[in-house]
Amino acid sequence: MSAAALLDRLDGVHACGAGRWRARCPACDSRRDVLAITETMDGVVLLHCFRDGCTATDIVGATGLELDALFPPRVEGVHAAKPVARRFNAAQVLAAVNLELLEVLLIVGAILRRGSVTRTEHARLMLSVSRVFVAEGATHD
Ligand SMILES: [Zn+2]
Repeated sequence: MSAAALLDRLDGVHACGAGRWRARCPACDSRRDVLAITETMDGVVLLHCFRDGCTATDIVGATGLELDALFPPRVEGVHAAKPVARRFNAAQVLAAVNLELLEVLLIVGAILRRGSVTRTEHARLMLSVSRVFVAEGATHD
């Protein structure tokens, strides 16, 4: 479970659905639960700060974790469970693409502010691109 390590380090955490939580944002030091945390079905943790629009990099950094904490652990050398090809309706695929777009916007914002890109950010952007490509073929006919 990818979200557990992050949730342990946040204040004011409460669940608001399956794989969804709200908490105080550690990056902008909010007193209210302005931070939305979502864990996707493939174990990736998405973050959105409704107060200052803090980036995932800022939020995770404020907890003392690395950005890798938002991704499921890699299983080295084991190919036990290949993903099963599933089909989703157009609304589900659009929602997933919207989340990826939000993540890309947050990362690009951080890159623009800093004037440089980290390897982790680049890898996350490439993951988003690959997911959007996969999404095209994931819908019903
Ligand atoms: Zn914030």
